[in-house]
Amino acid sequence: MSEKLVHVVSHPLVQHKLTIMRMVQTTSSEFRTLLREISMLLAYEVTRDLPLTYVEITTPLTTMSAPMIDGKKITLVSILRAGNGILDGMLELMPSARVGHIGLYRDPQTLTPVEYYFKMPPDISQRDIIVVDPMLATGNSAAAAISRLKTLKPLSIKFVCLIASPEGIDLLSSEHPDIPIFTASIDEKLNEHGYIVPGLGDAGDRIYGTK
Ligand code: URA
Repeated sequence: MSEKLVHVVSHPLVQHKLTIMRMVQTTSSEFRTLLREISMLLAYEVTRDLPLTYVEITTPLTTMSAPMIDGKKITLVSILRAGNGILDGMLELMPSARVGHIGLYRDPQTLTPVEYYFKMPPDISQRDIIVVDPMLATGNSAAAAISRLKTLKPLSIKFVCLIASPEGIDLLSSEHPDIPIFTASIDEKLNEHGYIVPGLGDAGDRIYGTK
């Protein structure tokens, strides 16, 4: 596993909220609230190195040169459908971010990801992208999504999830060694059904109450 580009967000608030999200008795409504909150904290970490520029402003007392984020607005890219849970929280913190969506399903014969939806804002080549998906399980969807985004030549790409498996990190960082991964936890393993253990179950089902 290439540790260098993997950032585990160990902040106590993140860890506490993640523990409650993992609990089987946590309701969908509570799960969504926690996911929104934790996503804001993850957004804070993943945007830590955004460049600043200085602008002249007037306060009620005087004028000053004050910092603001430089460059074009960030693009948040959600891998459907569970990525939308992280997207909502991140958008609260970065309301003017642009948003893209990628839909992928796993071909039952080849088990490879097939794209069924791809919608991005214009000017991607001048934007920094943050790809979001709560569970980095096999890593196949994340790797496919990032390969597709790279064809548009964005300025940069980062990947954010809640829980990663060691297998998912290995796959993503071997296919895309240049992409930083931000996660709240690296769990033990994938089970034979492709679920992360101990994990939190199916993130999409838990967000939307579909099971
Ligand atoms: N997707 C999920 O929602 N949960 C897992 O554990 C693995 C993939």
